[in-house]
Amino acid sequence: MVWFFLFIFGLAVGSFLNVVALRYDGDHFVLNPRVIGGRSRCPHCRKKLHWYELVPIVGFLLQRGRCRHCHVKIGYWYPAVELLSGLIFVLVPLRLGGAITGAASMLPLALYAAVWIAAFEAFLLVAYIDMRLGIIPDELNVALLLLAFAGIWVSLAYFGAANHSFFGSYAAALGLQDSVWTNHVIGALFGVLLFGGIVLATRGRGMGAGDAKFALPLGLLFGWPDILLIAMIAFIIGGGFGIGLIASGRKTMKSTVPFGPFLVIGATVAFFWGSALFRWYFHMVGL
Ligand SMILES: [Zn+2]
Repeated sequence: MVWFFLFIFGLAVGSFLNVVALRYDGDHFVLNPRVIGGRSRCPHCRKKLHWYELVPIVGFLLQRGRCRHCHVKIGYWYPAVELLSGLIFVLVPLRLGGAITGAASMLPLALYAAVWIAAFEAFLLVAYIDMRLGIIPDELNVALLLLAFAGIWVSLAYFGAANHSFFGSYAAALGLQDSVWTNHVIGALFGVLLFGGIVLATRGRGMGAGDAKFALPLGLLFGWPDILLIAMIAFIIGGGFGIGLIASGRKTMKSTVPFGPFLVIGATVAFFWGSALFRWYFHMVGL
């Protein structure tokens, strides 16, 4: 029952994220009530939507993916974002419950889960807005920075001094696991220096300054060596995607592709499959 209600609540949050991401204009605060307030309308014919048309997933299915008034197609992004948000509310606590052992009670785990659920909801918004407008709002970076500090605080208060990496015991091979603070500050520095370095070296053509800014809260939140895997996955998937776009003639070498979504994919892979990837890798090289 708890999981069911978490999922439903997550769907509703996803519905809210759709409104925020689609009405955000880059000039106003991301949660500005005058921008995100008011009844939802069909973006095509501007007709106000009924309450039942706004029910996550169900509304989309009832309308068979079209506006009831003007019959223009509603993008699959609406139900997809709602579904992803619902899954975040269920899969993030499940993953943490499996990854963290030895917590004295449920409270620290619940607090830690709340921090990571909020972080993944912010990631979803970052990816969505970066794909739509090619920018990552500063206020989302600040929110993620605060969540990173909250995560470090919960770790220190409840889980002991040793760092928690999503690589599990494999993280020890890459060092710096003795102090939570040192680990996460190094993670943040690594993110900023790596992406800031690329921005400077390519004079902003290889990557936007927004991606380097986003790497700061990402590194502080995940720590070392998780941020290293995030960067590697983002480069591999982002690079493959870029080559695909150029090969298919949809982009040229001079086009820019928003990199935020690839960092979010990297973060998702590190969080859910970090230790599994390491196990697979060490198995492959015969260790
Ligand atoms: Zn319409």
